[in-house]
Amino acid sequence: MPVPSPEQYKKIIANAKANNFALPAINVTSMITANAAIAAFAEAKADGIIQLSLGGAEFASGSGVKDAVIGAASVAEHVHRVTKDLPVYIALHTDHCQADKLHIVRGLLEESRKRVAAGQSVLFNGHMFDGSALPLEENMKLSVPLLRECRELGIVLEVEAGIVGGEEDGAAETDDNTKLYTSPEDMLYVADTLFPEEGDFMFAATFGNVHGIYKPGNVKLDPSILKNGQAAVREKYGEDKTFALVFHGGSGTPVEQIRETLQYGVIKMNVDTATQFAFTQPIVEHMCDNSELIRQADGDGSKKLYDPRSYLKKAEQAMKTRVLQAIEELCATGKTQFGSI
Ligand SMILES: [Zn+2]
Repeated sequence: MPVPSPEQYKKIIANAKANNFALPAINVTSMITANAAIAAFAEAKADGIIQLSLGGAEFASGSGVKDAVIGAASVAEHVHRVTKDLPVYIALHTDHCQADKLHIVRGLLEESRKRVAAGQSVLFNGHMFDGSALPLEENMKLSVPLLRECRELGIVLEVEAGIVGGEEDGAAETDDNTKLYTSPEDMLYVADTLFPEEGDFMFAATFGNVHGIYKPGNVKLDPSILKNGQAAVREKYGEDKTFALVFHGGSGTPVEQIRETLQYGVIKMNVDTATQFAFTQPIVEHMCDNSELIRQADGDGSKKLYDPRSYLKKAEQAMKTRVLQAIEELCATGKTQFGSI
């Protein structure tokens, strides 16, 4: 069952943290994009994460249903099924969920609860609560009960303080550039609030990250924010008690800078924009190269050009190649824990 159990997932995260590499978390919106990520993880012998934003989850349920819980559960069940015999672990997460949408995460926790009661493993390994638009105190007030709920099931909660710039599927945006950098004080506040709860959590601290592609000169990525924040936490809580950090909004980041963050405890990096772009390129080519034939094809025997598989296979392949690149950039190639945990 290469969707890891809660215990296995804990070990996968601890191993990544101890060995300074990160798990690519690939955003998907369908079976096809999930399959692209799965193929890449299997080929690279890397453990990784497949995740859905709430918008992606709603999309996955189809326009006739439009239900994020059903869409997320449906893609997750697909991943549980198709990865069953693979020699790598692929964890499942959900992405940004704001306070007013927590019923979606709670609906998915309920799905996991039902599975556990039936003797199966959890449906998702992790869920994100994005309270970054709220004052930190309020953000943490909502995070604590959620962390307790997740802890009961062995599910990891991802929290965020500071705001990731840019726009992505309803994630908070800001015009105030200071909010793009989480201060060491705020990082300590998160530690002070969540460490005593003893649930497993990941922390998306912000260091100038922007969702989507960077507009050069607009904002400066500063990984030393993470270094300083972790140092403050280490000083108070000891060597072993630092955050497992999540890197959002990293598209377009030079590989040296990505790798620098791995030294500061980044164990999960979200990848969305780059794989969306990769997926769409072959479709554009296919359509442009064959546009006349496809327009006139009805009944003339050119069925293979408009059969959606003809271009979606190319798209899946291109996305897989881009995921392989992300795995390599995060130093995760060949690092699967499969067979050893
Ligand atoms: Zn994000």
